[in-house]
Amino acid sequence: MHYQKNENDTLAQINVWKRNGFTVGFVPTMGALHEGHLSLIRKSKEENDKTVCSIFVNPTQFTEKSDFATYPKTLSSDINLLLKEGVDMLFNPAAKTIYPPDYKTKQYDLAGLDKNLEGHLRPGHFQGVCNVLDRLFKIVPADRAYFGQKDFQQTVVVFHLCKLLGIQTDVVVCPIIREENGLAMSSRNNRLTDELRKNAGFIFSSLIQLKQYFKQGNFKQGIDSFIKNISEHDGANLEYLKIVNMQSLQETDNYEQKSKIALTVVNYHGVRLLDNIRLD
Ligand code: AMP
Repeated sequence: MHYQKNENDTLAQINVWKRNGFTVGFVPTMGALHEGHLSLIRKSKEENDKTVCSIFVNPTQFTEKSDFATYPKTLSSDINLLLKEGVDMLFNPAAKTIYPPDYKTKQYDLAGLDKNLEGHLRPGHFQGVCNVLDRLFKIVPADRAYFGQKDFQQTVVVFHLCKLLGIQTDVVVCPIIREENGLAMSSRNNRLTDELRKNAGFIFSSLIQLKQYFKQGNFKQGIDSFIKNISEHDGANLEYLKIVNMQSLQETDNYEQKSKIALTVVNYHGVRLLDNIRLD
């Protein structure tokens, strides 16, 4: 596996591969790798000749300094996982490589996609995501890039960004990988105790029940019982449950409409747990 920290060497290696006719898949991450990340890597390996993974904890997308400071860092075990998966290159830049001293933070016109849901609770988060991806896509001009549906709003923002900037990389969205109890895997799950982590399956089971109610046309009952289910768990606070259109991310109360997704964040003993389920 190539281990790169430098912008020019990374781009040069990608270009060598491309000149030799290899296709390149790219999996951007912030490390603390788990099966969710590995599923993206496996998909990339299936669909491309070469797979590049980046590990970079992007400071500009954090709205809480303490969240950034305590973000889990497990580089040596991450490297072992990448070796085991047969990844061709790890790009692990320093902050000054992505944001050199003369870097000017950009503001992208995201047509409001960055304003609601996560964007509302974490102002500037998606602008930070776009700044880092703009840089990363230039350094790793891959044929395809892989993102998880767990961060659904992020996938919609990334599609928009690629169109806006004319980025030639195809965006591929991969399903949510879950722990045995249904909890969506996340690097932040490490912040839960083992016991809480075991209990946290109620978020997904509540989403499944919501979907069943929606299938039967019992929309109000579905939403009410979701809210009640969550509130019954000690230490669980529902930050939001929103039923939105999958393309526009606009909230809808026309529940008959097609292409809906339920997005939720539950704060469970101080840890924000994101999840979602398609409703059709
Ligand atoms: P992160 O390291 O949290 O920035 O995540 C890197 C990529 O992995 C993002 O595209 C995430 O959506 C994706 N990802 C994180 N958790 C999961 C999961 N449980 N299942 C599928 N993809 C995931």
